[in-house]
Amino acid sequence: MEQILRKLVCVLLASLAYPSGGVSQQPPQTAPTRADILRGEYGPYRANNDLISYDLDVRVDPEKKFISGKNTIRFRMLNDATRIHLDLFANLNVDKILQGSTALKYTRELNTVFIDFPAQLKKNSVRVIDFYYSGSPQETGRFGGISFKKDPAGRPWVTTACQGIGASIWWPNKDQQRDEVENMRLHVAIPSTLTDVSNGRLDAKTDLGDGYTRYDWSIHYPINNYCVSLNIGSYQHFSDRLGDLTLDFYCLPENLDKARRQFAQAKPMIEAFQKYFGEYPFKRDGYKLIEVPYSGMEHQSAVTYGNRFANGYLERDWTGVGVSLKFDFIIIHESAHEWFGNSITASDVSDEWIHEGWATYAECVYVEALFGTDDAIRYVNGYKSKVRNQQPIITTRGVNKSPSQDMYFKGALFLNTLRSVINDDSKWWKLLRSYSMHFRYQNIATADLVKYFNVQTGLNLTPIFDQYLRQAELPVLELQFRQNDGTVSYRWKTVVKDFAMPVKVGRRNDWQLVKPTTEWQTMKSGLQRDEFDVATDRYYIEVVKN
Ligand SMILES: [Zn+2]
Repeated sequence: MEQILRKLVCVLLASLAYPSGGVSQQPPQTAPTRADILRGEYGPYRANNDLISYDLDVRVDPEKKFISGKNTIRFRMLNDATRIHLDLFANLNVDKILQGSTALKYTRELNTVFIDFPAQLKKNSVRVIDFYYSGSPQETGRFGGISFKKDPAGRPWVTTACQGIGASIWWPNKDQQRDEVENMRLHVAIPSTLTDVSNGRLDAKTDLGDGYTRYDWSIHYPINNYCVSLNIGSYQHFSDRLGDLTLDFYCLPENLDKARRQFAQAKPMIEAFQKYFGEYPFKRDGYKLIEVPYSGMEHQSAVTYGNRFANGYLERDWTGVGVSLKFDFIIIHESAHEWFGNSITASDVSDEWIHEGWATYAECVYVEALFGTDDAIRYVNGYKSKVRNQQPIITTRGVNKSPSQDMYFKGALFLNTLRSVINDDSKWWKLLRSYSMHFRYQNIATADLVKYFNVQTGLNLTPIFDQYLRQAELPVLELQFRQNDGTVSYRWKTVVKDFAMPVKVGRRNDWQLVKPTTEWQTMKSGLQRDEFDVATDRYYIEVVKN
């Protein structure tokens, strides 16, 4: 159970299971299981090929809670090989796997399917296989996996939200984050009384003549597996535009008025994000916001929403400082992932702060754009109560180990700190925009991001990134006061060697910028110990006064 909970942490909503001030969320360190390695490792049978496209064609029976269909997987070989590694949960049947008309042999191990080809696949050759499957997928947790629910009026409501647990819980794919298809088609046949809203652009809707209707969606961009989404229900639709970007909204018929009111927040939010992070990344697919029975998820171009049409997070003041109730947390946070998570994706879950730290920081950027700097600073500092500082944000690579919740809150506080390190807002906003554009549609590691920031700023920020992301402890600013001559000595106490970070100290509204290192330095301050302040709302640090 602990294992399952840990994996759900990266689904934002699982944070409800860990209200702030509760017990530590950290499970004990354990060696990775075979399942973790199979799922997490970018092993030889994954690394030998590069995905080109998926064409997923499924039929969903909401009453029988049954799914069947095939995924046509197109990939390019990166070296000569006879075996590849795909994934499908063990409880689902592999009906057959074909290359053309030839049935391929396969071996199943836990949730992995190793496929063996009768002859060597040559490097650079493009291959196509049809992976047929069927079964009753697991419903896990409150949000995880795929769920077959009823809406409050008793109509079927089938939704997917499989981040962490893995998309292979409901469809066969190469279930990892490093390699994405370049584009995808998705065909969903459902009872004709219902509507399917998935990712991408709807190409066609075809009555199959047997009580079922098929929805054909085209996704024109790379997409990570967990974002591929079914939302099958009795949806009402309304739409809007932001320039040439289409905005499409779906909700249950009973909630139409509430949705029209609440979803109006999407437009100013996208405008703010476009200003700071560059153009909406999935314009050809449009932006959609879709009501679901769980709190929400960042499904690419099909953001899902279940925040009760109220501001805050499930009607709570999420960061506890009076700002959260000014906006709908789920609309803002999940949509921010279009830039951070969907466009720029972490190549391994150990680097998931690239999604969550950035999306959480994007909330603060939104607050600043709409409500001003004071609210933004209050908002981000409200997150301090949720940080634990018990384990590094970045976990072990390649073993399917999701980071703790610190990746959200400490991640955002770290980026707020980095802004103060840059100490020039015009440079900061330019940097955020260029980062977002430079790595658009790419799958990256933290090292790529740090390298880019170092080159763009001309600074060596590596020790700062390392201290905040690769160590549990915050940097400690040690201050030593000598009252008789009005001086104060200062240094950083950090785990990372050569840590150096400027910080503003002295008198609020008249800060002095000092550049402490791990060696003692002394400044004249003329301030008493109690008068001497540190800008801890701009730098997330610990201060020790001696
Ligand atoms: Zn998130």
